Amino acid sequence: MKLSNMLMTTLREVPAEAELPSHQLMLRAGLMRKMASGIYNYMPFGIRTLKKIENIIREEMDNAGAQEFLASAVIPAELWRESGRWDVFGPEMFRLSDRNNREFCLGPTHEEVFTDIARSTIKSYKQLPVNLYQIQTKYRDERRPRFGVMRSREFVMKDAYSFDMNEEGLDISYNKMYEAYVNVFQRCGMTCSAVEADSGAMGGSGSAEFMVKSEFGEDEVVFCNSCNYAANMEKAPSTSEKAEEEEFKSLEEVETPNVKTIEQLIGFFKTSSKKFAKTLIFNADGKSVAVVIRGDREANEVKIVNAIGGAVNFEMADEDMVKKVTNAEVGFAGPINIKADFVFIDEEVASMYNFIIGANKTGYHYTNVNYGRDFSGQVGDFRKVTAEDTCPKCGEKITIARGIEVGHIFKLGTKYSASMGATFTDEDGSNKPLIMGCYGIGVNRTMAAIIEQNHDENGIIWPMSVAPYHVVVVPISDKKQEQMEAAENLYNELKSLGIEVLLDDRKERPGVKFKDADLIGIPIRVTVGKGISEGLVEYKLRRNQNKEEVLLSQVISKIQEEFKA
Ligand code: ATP
Ligand code: MG
Repeated sequence: MKLSNMLMTTLREVPAEAELPSHQLMLRAGLMRKMASGIYNYMPFGIRTLKKIENIIREEMDNAGAQEFLASAVIPAELWRESGRWDVFGPEMFRLSDRNNREFCLGPTHEEVFTDIARSTIKSYKQLPVNLYQIQTKYRDERRPRFGVMRSREFVMKDAYSFDMNEEGLDISYNKMYEAYVNVFQRCGMTCSAVEADSGAMGGSGSAEFMVKSEFGEDEVVFCNSCNYAANMEKAPSTSEKAEEEEFKSLEEVETPNVKTIEQLIGFFKTSSKKFAKTLIFNADGKSVAVVIRGDREANEVKIVNAIGGAVNFEMADEDMVKKVTNAEVGFAGPINIKADFVFIDEEVASMYNFIIGANKTGYHYTNVNYGRDFSGQVGDFRKVTAEDTCPKCGEKITIARGIEVGHIFKLGTKYSASMGATFTDEDGSNKPLIMGCYGIGVNRTMAAIIEQNHDENGIIWPMSVAPYHVVVVPISDKKQEQMEAAENLYNELKSLGIEVLLDDRKERPGVKFKDADLIGIPIRVTVGKGISEGLVEYKLRRNQNKEEVLLSQVISKIQEEFKA
């Protein structure tokens, strides 16, 4: 493509509304333009990269034995009523009705549609397993669209749905998708971790999220520094610190007027926060839950909710509930004689000696408290991990970092097939619900995440696999016929070799051309300047600063080598 024929939409200024580097760069490099909140139009450079990512995904899905489908984005409400999700999906769903007042939605996801396809086409175990995927536009009226296409209201998703006859089959389908996802993100030039996610009732390895480390990520992730372990904060098990063994001392009640917070207690008792246990009271659907954790720890609400078997509303208890459960003002709760519906003791607290807790009496604390002797409760893991915890797999150090979720794989089981009657006839003649899995990749979010990991102060540094064009040929002076001719010849030759090449034949200063090439992030730049009279051109890769004088006759083989790298 000749740049003089292209609609160039690069911006010099950083758009005010964009905080995230990828958001700023996608706008500045002219990859996309905002049309409304969370709704974007893709420009020529942007759509080329988006299509390349789609094709990498397509190849990996096909390799894994999945078949491409394309479902409609408009879905009748009827299907969602069958699964029971029409009423629970909430305001994230874009709803509409036709001229006859029939209700529809713009699909936010397609479990219902693919379960419907499966129930009308899969009859026998002989047809299984099947994995169907599509690359299609999704609609979600997000509460807070932000960070450009990271969280938008219209986005492209690859979603796949697997159908198996039993759990073993599902495991195989799931593992194939897992491997395909690893390949996709690697081929896109990203460093990505598969993170064990909390899958609630599913348990075990029922779900994994593919996370890209980024300070702007919305999720907190635990990464092991030595092995490949990674987990969501909600899921990551803590490894308790062993307190030094002591002889049990006798329990004492100490008057602590107006000493309520851990900071105040540390000052009052002149000891470390590791010598205190705090008792937090939660309200879970009207039931009181007391959770005892070490003074310097934070409670993990997901672990607590899982321990009580799930809760719809879960929040800190109000003053009234605290008073009812502890008989005291807020600030003096403790596990001795507490009247809560659930009493949970973090395992770290159960192994501490002679510590300090609230006395369930306004203005008092107990010292020399010991679990087992002085109080009881259900012992378990109820706290958030910290950077001082160790890897539950290999025991080495961990890092807590923020991450962006680019993909998600999930074992659904019979959730949709049972409610929608998607069954098959098994070998023994019995009728059984299909065992399902679902697998999603956010294509636009992946594009933004690639930029998050591949950019510098001058712009995007596209990995070759997803670059909108591979090479840009830049003649220095549009007035020098020798330069323009050599540049155009090189451009034509590269094109004939199937290399995606741009010719910057605009009537612009070289500085402007270089800035645009860097901003858009074309991997290879060949500059044709004065040296051409001796047959020399300048060769430069976007990813480093080195400039090389090379013979024009050798530049093509040099470019071709870059593809092998
Ligand atoms: P999130 O927690 O970020 O809202 P999700 O759990 O709702 O994600 P899924 O329903 O699993 O996401 O969708 C599959 C993939 O689609 C996600 O991994 C993500 O890459 C992408 N995705 C989801 N919502 C959006 C959005 N609003 N904008 C862009 N991509 C999205
Ligand atoms: Mg979401």
